[in-house]
Order: sequence, then structure tokens, then C-alpha cells
Amino acid sequence: MSKFVVEPSQRIKNLPPYLFAKIDKMKEEVKKRGVDIISLGIGDPDLPTPPHIIKKLHEASQKVENHQYPSYEGLFLFRKAVADFYKNRFNTTLDPETEVVSLIGSKEGIAHFPLAFIDPGDYALVPEPGYPVYAVATRFAGGNVHYMPLLERNKFLPDLSAIPSDIAKKSKVIFINYPNNPTGATATKDFYLEVIDFAKKYNIIVCHDAAYSEMFYDGKAPISFLEVKGAMEVGVEFHSLSKTYNMTGWRIGWVAGHREIVGALGKIKTNIDSGIFQAIQEAGAEALLGDQSCVKEMQNIYQERRDILTEGLEKIGFKVNKPAATFYMWIRIPDSWTSSDFAALLLEKAGIVVTPGNGFGESGEGYIRMALTVDKDRLKEAVERIKSLNIKF
Ligand SMILES: *Cc1c(COP(=O)(O)O)cnc(C)c1O
Repeated sequence: MSKFVVEPSQRIKNLPPYLFAKIDKMKEEVKKRGVDIISLGIGDPDLPTPPHIIKKLHEASQKVENHQYPSYEGLFLFRKAVADFYKNRFNTTLDPETEVVSLIGSKEGIAHFPLAFIDPGDYALVPEPGYPVYAVATRFAGGNVHYMPLLERNKFLPDLSAIPSDIAKKSKVIFINYPNNPTGATATKDFYLEVIDFAKKYNIIVCHDAAYSEMFYDGKAPISFLEVKGAMEVGVEFHSLSKTYNMTGWRIGWVAGHREIVGALGKIKTNIDSGIFQAIQEAGAEALLGDQSCVKEMQNIYQERRDILTEGLEKIGFKVNKPAATFYMWIRIPDSWTSSDFAALLLEKAGIVVTPGNGFGESGEGYIRMALTVDKDRLKEAVERIKSLNIKF
């Protein structure tokens, strides 16, 4: 009898090495030593989902009609809530019938998006440092990735004029993400106008990831890509309840914008999944249209944390880019260190988990990312521990 061999596909074999494996392994070792670990590594809110949303899930879960397969494009009630949210928040009109599709979290939609538009040999333009899903999903669809560096001197916006025109001509999709993970940067209307011009010139679909649009500071609410003139002619926006309402575990988001683009992603999805539990969609509608004081409270909590960490690190000697939005701090480390050695130092010597910036792309070298996902006393403790390392700048 011949030996049974499990042979993964090329697409699995070609996955980039998991850059956080070293940190994960080290974390386990440090934990075993009994060290009290402060984890600033993962972008997952530590706060609970607001009670009125949970209550709605409870009620909706008892309706028999919600126990069957949901509709593919999503419950109309939820898509209408998304359209109302866009009207209230961005003064943008969406047709809930054709311009919104529910997603099993925005990650699901982003990951399937290239299957709708990318053929082998096509390019996608992808920001780096950035959310890893844009590049992996492009490659899973057989496409090539052209990275757009996000540099501090450009306020972490991609320089579209640096994209070679032969690459632009072969590109089908451009991914952008503001407020940005991992840099915490926001985009301006002028930048979006530039993206729209570029998209029209080269016939490239714009895919804007707006997962952090409500996680902002100092009362300065970021604009939506879709509210900018011309955006609806060239693109879509991915959005999520995960960060705004502390609902990462619920798996619900949406895509909105150009109807043919939304429709093409819907076509892929009808062949892959069968929608989101309708009770979760009812609760999602409640999140979007119910009392929004929970969002303000969330913003206040993160703002206090951001200010504590910024002030503490600046006193030690770090130059901190105070984020305008998101719960990430993108911090420049001393020149004599690499991102991964510095992350290892913080873990080994201070019991603090951070993410090395190069894990998000090569332009992330020289930075670490800290997520504001622990309470303020723990952040103060983290600052004290870092201080005791006597880092030289
Ligand atoms: C967290 C996050 C998302 C949201 O993911 P969900 O699948 O909706 O939970 C999307 N994009 C970025 C950049 C994120 O950081």
C-alpha cells in the first residue's frame, strides 16, 4: 500500500511566513515563567457589546423565521439600517436593495472581493504596512500584488504618482484603508479625489476599508470615501460593526457603493456562503439605529488611554504619532533597533506584547504597533515597565 500524503495547494505553500510566530512562541515561554503579561498585540476590543444590542439578539433569536437560511444579500431590515446610517452619518444616499450587501464580517467580504474582479496576471494595488488580507486574497485569486508604501513623510497616504503606469494599466483593484490600521492615520477629501481621478484614468475599482470610521478622537469624525463626489462611480466601501460596537465575535459587516461592484461580490458569495444568522442582522440594525451614546463612551475610553500612553512614552523619549483615529499607536523605535528585536525586548524584559511593524510590510520596519485594548491602569503599568528598561535614543 502506498503512503497517503497530504499535499497542500500552491496557494497554501506560497503564503508568506507567519511573522508573528516568533513573538507567539516567546509569549508562551514568558508566560510559563509566571510573568504577568500586558497584551497590546491584537486589535480586538476588550469592552463588551452594549446591552441593548445583546437584548435585541435575544429577542430576535426566538423568532422561528430567523431559524432558517437567511437571504444571500442580507436581511432588508439590516441593509436599510446601513442606508439610514450612511444618510445620518455621511449624508450619503444608498439604495438598500442594490447598493448594500451584508457580510460575515468585513474580512469575509474583503477576502472574497478579488475573486469577483481579479484574473490570473491582473494586479491589485495594496498599501503596506497594511491589513494582510488585501494581499493574500489577491494572490488566492491568482493575481499579483503591487505594494504602495505608506510613509510618515506622506502622512501615511500612498503616493499614487509613484505607481508605474504599466502596473496601473494592469491593475483591476486598489485597496485603501482610512482610518488606517496600523498607522492610525486618516485621509482627506483631497486624497480621495485624487484616488477617484486615478481610478477613472486607469479603470481601477476602489475598495475602501472603513472599519475604523467611528473610532476617532477629539470629536473629529472622519469622512467616508463614498461621500466624495465621483466615489460611487468607481468604488465600494467595506464596513463593520466589529470595532464600533465591540462586536468582533458576532461576525457582521457590509459592503456598500457602486451597484455592479456590490452585485459581483454578491454573486461570488451566493456560491460560497449562505448569509448571516438573521437574528444577528436584527441586532446589527439595532446597533446602527439605536442609542449611539455607547459609541461616544467608547471614544472617550480610548481617548483617555491614547493620551496616557502618548504622554507616558513621550516622557521616556519616544516620538509618538498621536493617532487621529483607530485604537492603534504606531510608534517609531530608536534607530539602533529592528522592529522584531525591540518587540522581543519588550516581551522578555517587560512582559509587554506589541506587534513588530515589519509584520505589516517592509515600510513598517522601525515601528511597533500598540493596541489600546487594556484599561488605563494597565497602560500606566506598561509605561512604568518600559521606563525601567532605560532605553537609549
Ligand atoms: C478589524 C479590521 C476589520 C474588521 O474585520 P471584521 O471582519 O469586520 O471583524 C477590517 N479591516 C481592518 C483594517 C481591520 O483592522
